[in-house]
Amino acid sequence: MHFDTLALRATHQPDATTGAVIPPIYLSTTFARNEANELSANYGYTRPNNPTREALEKALAALEGGAVGMAFASGQAATMTLFQALRPGDHVVLSADAYYGTPALLEQVFHPWGLTYTRVDMRDLDAVQQSIHENTRVVWCETPSNPMLAITDLLTISSMAHDAGAICICDNTWATPALQRPFDFNCDVVMHSTTKYLSGHSDVLGGALIFKRDNEFAQRIRTLQGLSGAVPSPFDCWLISRGIKTLGVRVRAQTATAQAIAEFLDGHPAVETIHYPGLPNHPDRAIIQQQMNGPGAMLSIQVKGGADEALQFIGKLHLFTRATSLGGVESLIEHRASVEGPTSATPHNLLRVSVGLEHAEDLIADLAQALDALR
Ligand SMILES: *Cc1c(COP(=O)(O)O)cnc(C)c1O
Repeated sequence: MHFDTLALRATHQPDATTGAVIPPIYLSTTFARNEANELSANYGYTRPNNPTREALEKALAALEGGAVGMAFASGQAATMTLFQALRPGDHVVLSADAYYGTPALLEQVFHPWGLTYTRVDMRDLDAVQQSIHENTRVVWCETPSNPMLAITDLLTISSMAHDAGAICICDNTWATPALQRPFDFNCDVVMHSTTKYLSGHSDVLGGALIFKRDNEFAQRIRTLQGLSGAVPSPFDCWLISRGIKTLGVRVRAQTATAQAIAEFLDGHPAVETIHYPGLPNHPDRAIIQQQMNGPGAMLSIQVKGGADEALQFIGKLHLFTRATSLGGVESLIEHRASVEGPTSATPHNLLRVSVGLEHAEDLIADLAQALDALR
């Protein structure tokens, strides 16, 4: 089945009792028992399980081709729960270029609690090998990376992890399952911020963990999900399920526009570098072709100059909203170093762009006038 069909089938679950094509949102926090004290279905209380959340979780598993999916209240809640399933003394290997919240959780929450971690440039395979120790339990990849759009070779890294008895996790938020399915490259767990492309409209927070196998580790996380309760509300689950229905078309259209924008910016006299997996000079071209069905709709621009020029440029844009986050239908641009704060390693002339569904020609004209004003 093609991805578009799969996304529709996975989220299309008509209500068996009423025939409603779109099933109701089950807001109930609790479920009644009959005279014999039996529940009518597998639902007792909404923190551990709810029909609307379960529908989303099944769809998430189907999208990634995994055995089981679990939905969380945010991407960070999903990441947090994954690390909570480890034990003090365990070691994590994390990409050097990653969503800043992932290392922030390791440093501020889990390091004091007993996890150790090493950050490594995942393109340097020798360095990855050297950073995997006897107590390494998790190798955490994020590809394309944030905000440098570096590509990690998932097949090679997952086999390094497995050789050491560790599991390989891929944060697949940027690529989405429409463009990249990490289980095809032997990853064990896929993580998502469903806040981004899966919901797609910048109006709901959510996160997900999807497991290739429903094993003891997955069940431990299921237990933690129900015990700690960092779960999305039924309404949020419904919004994310609705977003998934159009994921394929949105990502395809947004990718085509991002490609046109990257080609326009590449070689522009006011631009120092463009980071975009769809450009022929991207250093990880071979892995992109093996691992992705398309380059995606995220790109980073380094303008000539520093923070002043970068901020001057985005100050002149009319069609890009100056805001953090990504994956929505509206184009966003942000000065990443300002968002990440004083500890950020991101170049100060870098602007991260999430390309939306506006027409490519309008977006390019807007970028052109703002760049011209820089010269
Ligand atoms: C946004 C994001 C997260 C965190 O997700 P939240 O839903 O904001 O908690 C994690 N990873 C990546 C790649 C992200 O873009």
